[in-house]
Amino acid sequence: MTHRALWPLMAAGALLIACSGGRALETATPAPPTSPTSIPASTSSPTPATPTVTAGAVATVIAVTTPTTPNTNAVTVAAPLDLTRIAIPPGNGALIVVDPGHGGDEIGAASNGIVEKDSNLEMARRVQRLLTESGYRVIMTRVDGGRAVGGIDGPGQPQGFSAQRRDLQARIDVANAANAALFVSLHSNGLNDPSANGIETYYNSQRPFSAQSRVLAETIQSTVISEMSRTGYRVRDRGALDDSCLRAFQGQCFPLFVLGPPRITTRDEIHRRGGDPAALGFTDGQDAIASRATLMPGVLVELLFTSNYEDSRLLSDDTARETMARGVVLGIARYLTENPR
Ligand SMILES: [Zn+2]
Repeated sequence: MTHRALWPLMAAGALLIACSGGRALETATPAPPTSPTSIPASTSSPTPATPTVTAGAVATVIAVTTPTTPNTNAVTVAAPLDLTRIAIPPGNGALIVVDPGHGGDEIGAASNGIVEKDSNLEMARRVQRLLTESGYRVIMTRVDGGRAVGGIDGPGQPQGFSAQRRDLQARIDVANAANAALFVSLHSNGLNDPSANGIETYYNSQRPFSAQSRVLAETIQSTVISEMSRTGYRVRDRGALDDSCLRAFQGQCFPLFVLGPPRITTRDEIHRRGGDPAALGFTDGQDAIASRATLMPGVLVELLFTSNYEDSRLLSDDTARETMARGVVLGIARYLTENPR
């Protein structure tokens, strides 16, 4: 979820602080890029993977399965037989940072049996696996249920706003230190309105590379929606959206922290938000601090709403999850083929 959509748990301040240990970055070695790329279908899919077929000299065709048994949790349609295979370009070794949203006691959205931080991590692992098998290199900003940086939860540690800010900054720093080609953050939404549903992808329009981020967002949004549709899941397409004024407060717009430009935060603001200036690097007498922003195109994908019952059933469905992961990877691959880095 984005922080536009405050889940009641968060609004009620119910996100208690617990310890999260430190963790190392997880990297993955790509498969040889010269080999035909085959992305395996979901392990739970009732149909075996279609044999891989190479189409032309450039694109490699991956197997995509279509469930033969309608998924009872989704409105199903028959996928056209001539679209049971899709083209995905072979990986070029580009480094992708995959960011599973939230972590530690900052759990994100939670409803209908779905806890967003856990769902995000599981989805990120699927994306990591598919990217690696397609020849890309992957760094995950977190590899367990904790935050992206350890030691900021628990007794005596900065809590609430400070921990969240340090956690988000760490994700940005990971991507920059790795000189990643792309930053892709994975989330699911949650709202008090249970009718809100669907998939949306955010980019920020105020960055030097905003045009690229927008194309990446539009591409991923398109491929996730099309993969879901072809596999028989009907989901609402909420589009690729500019996050630059996602939240407005006192006449000022605030984008998603991990996508936006460097942000100036005053000591007073940190105090108002219950944070600890020292924990965020303030020195004595320092009145404001600037965050570090990502140096590469980035997007944040909101995969369905935990707060919508039908969406939550899809988030509980292995085949639907694998389909969404495949859509994300297909979008990344298409973007990088057309915009090599
Ligand atoms: Zn989220």
